[in-house]
Amino acid sequence: MKKPARRSTPATHLPVAAVQAARSERLLGDKVYEDLMQLLGTPGFEPRARLPGETALSQRLGVSRPVLRQALARLRDEGRVYARKGSGTFVTDALPQAQPMSLSTLENIADIRAFLEFRCFMEGEAAARAALARSSDQMHEIRRCRERFEQALADGSDAVAEDIAFHDAVAQACGNRFFAMTMNALAPQTRFSIGLSRSLSGRPQGQRRSGVCDEHAAVELAIDERDAQAARDAMEAHLRGGIARLFGQ
Ligand SMILES: [Zn+2]
Repeated sequence: MKKPARRSTPATHLPVAAVQAARSERLLGDKVYEDLMQLLGTPGFEPRARLPGETALSQRLGVSRPVLRQALARLRDEGRVYARKGSGTFVTDALPQAQPMSLSTLENIADIRAFLEFRCFMEGEAAARAALARSSDQMHEIRRCRERFEQALADGSDAVAEDIAFHDAVAQACGNRFFAMTMNALAPQTRFSIGLSRSLSGRPQGQRRSGVCDEHAAVELAIDERDAQAARDAMEAHLRGGIARLFGQ
């Protein structure tokens, strides 16, 4: 009978309400942060521009000043704006873009899933294009990378580098260098997610590995036969297989 007793005690309402308020304030803070990110770089919010005062900005964004301050603090932490004592908040000279083609690290399980789904779209398309555009040299390279991957697995290696090299060879063959560039920029995340998939997968290793080898072989065959749809399907099936291996679906 704990619940009714709790419900009848006003004092216990407070923490729940406080937690809910804190949570909705945080969600609101995230939203304001996104809104401010959209504004940065637009007229009035160019590099070195002074942001409107807290009152004006909070009115413009339709939030309280504490919520606005929270979002501004995050932008400050990220180096996107800075405060100058007595004169307000300014947009950083050059917005941080040290690695324009790179993602930040994968931070949580939702990120990892989103990343794998992104690979699915991108590499499915790359494989389809490779089927149409690949030269015989590129086909040879795809085959060589697939064989090296299988050999590495047979030798007991985790074969992560060889796996990435196979996917890279497909991207290289697709006739649009931006696929390969994007793959290259995402290599750290790819390495991380493959490693995680290998270590967390519940399936027996041998079974999983032969599955991956078959999937790679299907991609290679479709590209060899210049069958774009089959190549796309095979690559997507391979990467969806990775998601299933990781998330158990
Ligand atoms: Zn693979």
